[in-house]
Amino acid sequence: MGGFSGVLGQTGAIDILHSALESGRIAHAYLFAGPRGVGKGLTAEVFARALNCAAQLDRPCDRCLPCQKALNGNHPDILWLKPAGSSFKIEQVRELQRTVYAKVYEGRYKVIVLEDFHKATTQAANSLLKTLEEPPVSTVFILLSENPQTLPATILSRSQRVNFAPLDNRLIEEVLQQRQLGTAENRNLAVTMAGGSLGKAIEYIQNQKVFVLRQRAIEFIQACLGKNYYRRYKIAESLEKDKLDVTQFLEHLLLVLRDLYLGRSGPERGKAGIPEELQQISFAAESIGLALKVVLDAVELQRKQANTKLLLDVLGCRLARLA
Ligand SMILES: [Zn+2]
Repeated sequence: MGGFSGVLGQTGAIDILHSALESGRIAHAYLFAGPRGVGKGLTAEVFARALNCAAQLDRPCDRCLPCQKALNGNHPDILWLKPAGSSFKIEQVRELQRTVYAKVYEGRYKVIVLEDFHKATTQAANSLLKTLEEPPVSTVFILLSENPQTLPATILSRSQRVNFAPLDNRLIEEVLQQRQLGTAENRNLAVTMAGGSLGKAIEYIQNQKVFVLRQRAIEFIQACLGKNYYRRYKIAESLEKDKLDVTQFLEHLLLVLRDLYLGRSGPERGKAGIPEELQQISFAAESIGLALKVVLDAVELQRKQANTKLLLDVLGCRLARLA
C-alpha cells in the first residue's frame, strides 16, 4: 500500500497535508506532533515524496523517478536527520544549514526531516530558528516531536502544527493480526499497554521483556496489597538481577493501575471491564487514584536519579498503606 493510504488512522493530519499539496500553499516548516509510533515518520516520508513527485494528480504516485529515488532512500533533496546519540547537536544543524544554502536542487523542494526534534539542545534549536526566520526558497522542514511543549515558543510559532492522535486500539489489533505478529493473548496485552501507539505495540510483541515487566508489576501490586514485604522485596531485587529497566517497571505499574482504574470507574466499565489477569487484584477505585499519584511521585524521583532500591522500598510501603 503506497502513498497516504499507507498511513493508518490519521485522517486529520492527512487532510491538512492533502489540501496543502492541492492548493500549492506549502509552509516552510511543519511540526508533526504526537506520541511515538502513530505514523509521524511514515507521513513525513510520504509528504516528502509528494512534494517532489512528478505526477500531476494523486501525489505521491510512487512510480515516477523522483518517487522511486525517494522510496530507495537516495533522493538528493530529501534529508533525514536523527539526534546524534541522546540529543540534536548544534553541529548537526550547522552542517544542515550549509547543505540547505549551498546545494543545487534536483527536485522541486528540498525536504528536511528532523526526527525527535524535542531532543535538540537549546543552541541547536536556536540555530535552526535562524533558518526558519529566513527560510531558503523551496525548502520544507518537517520537525517530528512527541514532546512539542518542550520546544521553544519561537519554533512553534514558525511552524505549522499537524497533530497526530493516538490510534484506535481496534485498528492496532487489526494491523498486528494482518502482520501475524504474536499470539492472540500477546497481541491483546501489547495493545492494552501501547496506549494507541502501533510502534510501541509492535515493539512490545517483539521484545518479550515487556511481558515480563508487566507480570512483575502485577505481582508487585499484589504483594503490596497483601502486605507481603518479602515478596515485594524479592521483586524489586529481581529487576536488578534480570537487568530490567526500573523506569519501564514504573511505567508498567502506572499502566496496570490505569487498567484497573478504567475497569472500575472508566467509560468502558462493564463493557470491556478489567483484563482477566488483573481480576484478582482487589483495589477500590478511590485507592487506585491515590496509588497512581504515589507511583507518579516515584517516577519523578527516578528521573532525579534516586537510589533505586530505596525508591522501590518506599513506593511499596506507600502502596501497602492504600490496601
Ligand atoms: Zn511520483
